[in-house]
Amino acid sequence: MSGAIEIDWTRCDGHGLCAQLLPERITLDEHGFPVVHDRTVGDALVPHARRAVAVCPRLALRLE
Ligand code: SF4
Repeated sequence: MSGAIEIDWTRCDGHGLCAQLLPERITLDEHGFPVVHDRTVGDALVPHARRAVAVCPRLALRLE
């Protein structure tokens, strides 16, 4: 199963955990907010993406 990363900017406050857990898709800008380079998450990355979604302290990250 594949998916797509979505960030709810009304919730995200730049903790940056998502970039640590999914560096293949997310890096941080100079203010510590995530930059999604490619929303698409293939089969191999889905477990990592799910983990990033689970640990986001603001419930701002979704995998659709
Ligand atoms: S872990 Fe959640 S709150 Fe933190 S930067 Fe990522 S999306 Fe934003």
